[in-house]
Amino acid sequence: METVQGKKIYGGIVIGKIFHYRKEDSQIRRCQIEDIDAEWKRYEKAKETAIEQLTVLYDTTKEKVGEVNAQIFEVHAMMLEDEDYNDCIKGIIENQSMNAEYAVATAGDRFAEMFANMEDDYFKARAVDIKDISERIIHILLGRESQQDMGAEPVILMADDLVPSETVQLDKELLLALITKKSSVNSHTAILARTMNIPAITKVDIRAEWHGKTAIVDSYREQVIIDPSEEVLQEYRVLLEQEKEKKELLQTLKGKENVTLDGRSIQIYANIGKPEDIPGVLLNDAGGIGLFRSEFLYLGRDDFPSEEEQFQVYRQVAEVMGDKKVIIRTLDVGADKQVDYFHLPQEENPAMGYRAIRICLTQRDIFKTQLRALYRASAYGNLAVMYPMITSLWELQEIKKMASEVKAELERDGIPCKEMEQGIMIETPAAVMISDLLAKEADFFSIGTNDLTQYTLAIDRQNTMLDDFYDPHHEAVLRMIQMVIDNGHKEGIWVGICGELGADADLMETFLAMGLDEVSVSASCVLPLRKKVRETRLCEKK
Ligand code: PEP
Ligand code: MG
Repeated sequence: METVQGKKIYGGIVIGKIFHYRKEDSQIRRCQIEDIDAEWKRYEKAKETAIEQLTVLYDTTKEKVGEVNAQIFEVHAMMLEDEDYNDCIKGIIENQSMNAEYAVATAGDRFAEMFANMEDDYFKARAVDIKDISERIIHILLGRESQQDMGAEPVILMADDLVPSETVQLDKELLLALITKKSSVNSHTAILARTMNIPAITKVDIRAEWHGKTAIVDSYREQVIIDPSEEVLQEYRVLLEQEKEKKELLQTLKGKENVTLDGRSIQIYANIGKPEDIPGVLLNDAGGIGLFRSEFLYLGRDDFPSEEEQFQVYRQVAEVMGDKKVIIRTLDVGADKQVDYFHLPQEENPAMGYRAIRICLTQRDIFKTQLRALYRASAYGNLAVMYPMITSLWELQEIKKMASEVKAELERDGIPCKEMEQGIMIETPAAVMISDLLAKEADFFSIGTNDLTQYTLAIDRQNTMLDDFYDPHHEAVLRMIQMVIDNGHKEGIWVGICGELGADADLMETFLAMGLDEVSVSASCVLPLRKKVRETRLCEKK
């Protein structure tokens, strides 16, 4: 048994097996081979193994989540038998005397590009599958374990670090906990772990030999116990039981109001990254969705999501939530959320660079597609839209102009759409300082304390070395929050917080006293915050 310490990203206790997620060198070596027949046989053997893997994946997925979800693996197995694909690989091995890995990577790229350039959305989407099957074969040829094959049982995922595009692709159902070596606690990977309700610890000195071992992740005590003794396991089984009871007790707060003992109420909404997070929102009885980070629809894929694809997602979320408000934050890529197909420039200082609304206002086609999808979906529920990273009044005026053009265009074409509240995120000191002016143009403010803290304290939120300096309780940040609330209220608009600070139960009383109207937090924080609000009395404190 061995106990190692780390730093908490998201609290919880789990017991399970460790899976080591390795980042691999994506560079495929190109080398001349002598024995062409042997190289082709190597490929054929790898293909056979891939098909066997896919059959197992098909069977286990079908059993766990049904045939519809399993079909993709059947499609992949069929694609591996495609004659053109195989001929292309054979041609490269035979005519250029190249190694099988290089031949598969080259054929994969060629076919993916061909599919990506097709008109039909169905074929376009096959580009990702071609890449996927090619990567599978390359993994086998190189003797690596495939990253997607975490198996059918949920695991504790151990990794050096994960970028948001990797995290967003992880199957929540297969994840018990996350332990990493170097994620910043303020990064989007950390935020995703909280949104997915996955206990997570970082700054753990991870070791490859832990792969496959039983471990206990206790992120409350910020520790991971490898190979726990039976006695320790028993102790933790009791703790897990207590956790379960606490959660059940919180469930009794469902349907109750978020109101203090002296009658002051506040909205408690939930943050989501993808539609799969909605069951958690409903289970925890959130009043609405205060932040849907729509950029996660763009991550972990090879091409832009089409208007239709986005419309279907926004519509689904709007419909499921019914009358409850759903605030969709428009595309916020850049900085740590890198998307290859955007071809964003390499920047010295990406957090202060070409990101979010700055991209949307310069690459307007991308933004317009999203606005059209949003307005189309507005007809199906209670949608609102929110714009990130605003620093100047003209930005909001320009965006509103684009939004009204989009709406007029849809109306002209007879496509149903509704008026939506248009709010902005207050996450730059500039927006705070001109919040009196912005309040005349915006329908609401939602304070993004993650970025606001970063820009106010001049601390890169990705920099793990500065985690101890990143203090969202800093008086400067709290004063800014008060200023934004006051300026918003003067113009009669509501003000919320959708950054991580909103979930800080210790500050709830302060926020209530400041006059905050809403917080939007990870779904699992909704009921604990409701409990906190209902136990608070403000009057006596004045
Ligand atoms: C924020 O900055 O507080 C916020 C909610 O946005 P994100 O964390 O996605 O940058
Ligand atoms: Mg932000």
